[in-house]
Amino acid sequence: MPTSPIDLHAPYDDRVRTALANPHLKTALSRSTIRLSTARVNALSAVEGQRLRNQTRQMKEDVLRRLPELLEQFEANVIANGGQVHWARDAAEANRIILDIARQANVQKVVKAKSMATEEIHLNDALEAAGITPIETDLGEYIIQLAGEPPSHIVAPVVHKRLEDIAQLFQEKLDMPPTFDPEAMCSIARVKLRQEFLTAEMGVSGCNFGIAETGTVCIVTNEGNGRMTSTLPKVYVALMGIEKLVPTVEDAFLQFQALTRSSTGQQCSVYLSMTSGPRKVGDADGPSEFHVVLLDNGRSEMLARGYGEALLCIRCGACLNVCPVYREIGGHAYGSTYSGPIGAVISPLLPAPVTDSHKLPYASSLCGACRDACPVKIDLPRLLLDLRADAVEEGHTSWFDKQSMQGFLWAMQDRRRYEAAGKLGSFATQLLAALSGGTIKTLPPPLSGWTRSRNFPTLAKQSFREQWAARLDAKTARP
Ligand code: SF4
Repeated sequence: MPTSPIDLHAPYDDRVRTALANPHLKTALSRSTIRLSTARVNALSAVEGQRLRNQTRQMKEDVLRRLPELLEQFEANVIANGGQVHWARDAAEANRIILDIARQANVQKVVKAKSMATEEIHLNDALEAAGITPIETDLGEYIIQLAGEPPSHIVAPVVHKRLEDIAQLFQEKLDMPPTFDPEAMCSIARVKLRQEFLTAEMGVSGCNFGIAETGTVCIVTNEGNGRMTSTLPKVYVALMGIEKLVPTVEDAFLQFQALTRSSTGQQCSVYLSMTSGPRKVGDADGPSEFHVVLLDNGRSEMLARGYGEALLCIRCGACLNVCPVYREIGGHAYGSTYSGPIGAVISPLLPAPVTDSHKLPYASSLCGACRDACPVKIDLPRLLLDLRADAVEEGHTSWFDKQSMQGFLWAMQDRRRYEAAGKLGSFATQLLAALSGGTIKTLPPPLSGWTRSRNFPTLAKQSFREQWAARLDAKTARP
């Protein structure tokens, strides 16, 4: 049975419930996230991991401070190299620009390298609506395109599927003979994709980083599909978030190290493709047109609202792999392009928020594992708390939550009230436990949310203060 897809437009609570009810999803997530996070720890301990993180953070902070200046420098250098630069305020404008480029070049088919930015603007939908066929060429993206699903992880889009699910999909969609041999499955995909590369008129990729001092677009891949996307078709378009800049070539290699070690635990990826302009006279390959689309889509607003730290993200996916919530529910339950801790931060800030996006900041235990794993040391728990505060200010609180917090505040403002509340809680829970045979196993709604998966604890008969005072009294009374 394949992993059941989650309705991305369903209410958040339903998405989570569906994810939790799927045992295959749990198996697939555990296998991949544990493997990736172990590889990251090993790769970072093989070098001075803390130093690498500090240097990468400093460099990215510098980029944010000088963003307008670096963007202009990058644009000037892309143009000097013979490329074209387009500025897109939002997803609609980015899609319009890419469609115009495609129409002018009479494009029927687009091959795509893995790109979260194109997922963010829903480029495939826009291309299909215009009669242009998009083909995902990263193996993971190709699999989910066949399955009709969005990616469920920033780096490993098919992390939610088991080998068995993929084998079944290939049998259905690619007429693959029954096999669970990953090599045989890869070979089938390779043959299909090779044909697509040779017949597509346009290649589209994201951009892992753009080098301001040279106007170079860099894409990091392991399958070589990025290089074929950027060199084989006659037109190449790179869609780049405005924050994806690095000032110098040296900085690019610093970020490259941080990215590969944190995302897949590799010392370096198999391919790093660097494109500086279209094919020049004497070049063996390369596109005749090279376009860079610089995408804002809410990023300037994030900076203005005090969430600029989220723009330091290099999209390595490490925070997803260590997050206890992501490990249970996977990416689709978030309902947005970006999932995990960083997704819970940026999804509510993007211009077209998903259903219940205000609930995403609560998809965290605030344990801090994401902050510890992040190669740019983004304080994700703090950003999540800030977003929770915003959600409350915007009125996204239930009547019960509001009343309980007001009651809590009222009790905490006066010692006698606080102590009386403790006594009442202790009495009520002791009584309930006594009536239910010693353990509180069920509570009425909304507290039933707690007892659905665990027992409710009884409060101690004596408060900590009373126990402490009794202990001191006993000590003083001792001869
Ligand atoms: S927030 Fe940090 S750990 Fe998460 S994807 Fe971004 S860079 Fe990686």
